[in-house]
Amino acid sequence: MWYSQPPVSYIEPVFRPPSEADSLILQVTNGCSWNKCTFCDMYTDEHKRFRPKAEAEVLAEIQRCGESLPGVRRVFLADGDAMALSVRRLKTILTAIRTHMPSVRRVSAYCLPANLKRKSVEELAELRELGLTLIYMGAESGSDQVLRALDKGETFDSTAEALIKAGEAGIKRSVMLINGAGGQRFSEEHALASARLVNRVQPEYLATLVLFFRRGTDQTVLEGYDGDFQPLDGLGLFQEMRSLIAATELNQTIFRSDHVSNSLVLKGTLGKDKQRMLAEIDQAIEYARDHEIPVYRQGSF
Ligand code: SF4
Repeated sequence: MWYSQPPVSYIEPVFRPPSEADSLILQVTNGCSWNKCTFCDMYTDEHKRFRPKAEAEVLAEIQRCGESLPGVRRVFLADGDAMALSVRRLKTILTAIRTHMPSVRRVSAYCLPANLKRKSVEELAELRELGLTLIYMGAESGSDQVLRALDKGETFDSTAEALIKAGEAGIKRSVMLINGAGGQRFSEEHALASARLVNRVQPEYLATLVLFFRRGTDQTVLEGYDGDFQPLDGLGLFQEMRSLIAATELNQTIFRSDHVSNSLVLKGTLGKDKQRMLAEIDQAIEYARDHEIPVYRQGSF
C-alpha cells in the first residue's frame, strides 16, 4: 500500500520510557503542561511548548496506522503528560485505537499526579476498559522538601493520591524515583520518604535514575539548601539506594535501576529479592570506598 504521507508525524524531540522501545509512539500532545522541574530539559525548546494535538489529526493518524501497521501490539501516548487531556478526548482516542488497531494489547502514557486530580476512579476505570492499562509517573521523591527544591509542583500526598486512584481503577503504575535528588543534605530524608511513598501505593513497577539538572539550572537557588546544594558522589548514591531499598515494604513490585545514568544496575522483584539486592548494593558500597565511581551529570531522560 502506498501513502502520500507517513502514518504519523512528530514534533521532535520525542521521548518514551525504555520499556516502550517496541511500541508505536502516538503523539497526542506536544511537550509537558508543567515543564518546570529543575532537572528536566526534555521539552524546553520553544516549539515544544505544551498543547494538545488537534483531535482530527490524531484520529486520522490512528486510522492510517491501522491500515499501514497491522500487528501493532503496544501504543505509547506521547508527550510528557498525555493524561492532561480530558476524559472525553482520551476515550475518543482509545476507542479509535481499538477500532482501527484491534491487535493492540496495551496503551500507556506518562502521567503527572495533577492530571488525575479531576478524573474519578470510575472515569479512569473506563479508560482502562478501553485499553489504557499502564501509566508512568515520575514521583521523583516522597520528600516534600525535595519536591519543592525540584520544583515538581507535587507533594507526597498528591502523588500518593493519584497513584492510589489509578490503582483502584485497575491501571498499572510504573513509578520513577531520582537517586540523589536530595543532594547530601536531604539524602536520608529523600530515601526514607520515597520508601514510605512506594510502600503506601504498592506500585506494580518501580525504577530509579540518577539526578542531573537541566542545563543552566542555578543550583545555588534551590529551595532549602541555603545556596549550598552538594550532589552525591558515587558512594553516596549507593548508600542512598541502600537506605531506600532497605526501607521498602513491597509485596510484588518489579524493580529496575537500569537507566543509562545508573552506575549500579539492579533488577528484581521487591520484596522477594530485597535481601539479594541489598547484598549487591553492599558489594558496590565496598568497591566505591576505594574506587572512584563515574557519575552521570548531564543529558536528558
Ligand atoms: S519531569 Fe515530567 S513533569 Fe517535570 S518538566 Fe519534565 S516532563 Fe514535565
